Amino acid sequence: MSNIPVAVVTGSNKGIGFAIVRALCKQFPGDVYLTARDPGRGQEAVAKLQEEGLHALFHQLDIDDLQSIRAFRDFLKEKYGGLNVLVNNAGIAFRVYDRTPFAVQAEVTLKTNFFGTRNVCTELLPLVKPYGRVVNVSSMASSSALGGCSRELQQKFRSDAITEDELVELMTKFVEDTKKSVHEKEGWPNTAYGVSKIGVTVLSRIQARMLNEKRKDDHILLNACCPGWVRTDMAGPDATKSPDEGAETPVYLALLPSDADGPHGQFVSNKTVRTW
Ligand code: NAP
Repeated sequence: MSNIPVAVVTGSNKGIGFAIVRALCKQFPGDVYLTARDPGRGQEAVAKLQEEGLHALFHQLDIDDLQSIRAFRDFLKEKYGGLNVLVNNAGIAFRVYDRTPFAVQAEVTLKTNFFGTRNVCTELLPLVKPYGRVVNVSSMASSSALGGCSRELQQKFRSDAITEDELVELMTKFVEDTKKSVHEKEGWPNTAYGVSKIGVTVLSRIQARMLNEKRKDDHILLNACCPGWVRTDMAGPDATKSPDEGAETPVYLALLPSDADGPHGQFVSNKTVRTW
């Protein structure tokens, strides 16, 4: 088993994830895994970094596929005995003008952004080594969607006592409510992406609390963040930040020094803790 530190970035064949891998290849003292659901796109991305003189390793990982997540988990366990840095970056968004029925958008978006991210965490968090760093890429859209929730839902999502099971129940209810066309009546905002990212931010707050309760002595720091508005296939060419600029906050959180005691359990943008 190798003692080399290892960093993992999900959905990193392009966009912000690719830029995070690029930065980690330059700054992280260990093996950096570029992961992608499609091996062809992943290997191509690794080759592109190779041309820049950077060495990333590749492993297949589809966060929608539990088998794929577990195969990667077993690989990390066997080869490294765990991992040191996990960046949950993979995500999807329907385009604003997409005509797919809202209930379908809700199901598909929540499946990857919330449930997929959660499945990766369920399998990989127990493997994160002492002084590990975990970054869940959320979005400012989570804050604005929170503002669009009913007072009752806001209270639940801001609660310091909400459990992961309760969060899963709420995210499931959102999808069900969209199918019945009652989501607005039930206090939800009209954004599947925003709700999925509420899920990611609140999940991060819960996970950080659990780490405090169960693994305090391991000094693991876990946060959610917004990369900013970044020129990628998701956000389009008019966005204000380059992918490398978008990678700055996630990379800052991924590389928090070993003597740092925070941020932890926060929502961070532009390297600054934001009020949730
Ligand atoms: P992007 O260019 O569309 O890249 C998304 C990446 O996620 C791609 O590599 C994609 O792989 C991967 N992915 C999607 N579903 C996956 C799955 N099931 N398993 C594994 N990988 C999967 O988007 P981006 O702008 O870089 O976004 C990266 C993250 O930042 C997302 O979580 C997004 O919500 C968040 N974010 C972006 C912005 C922005 O302005 N761009 C703002 C706030 C937050 P494929 O190539 O196979 O599709």
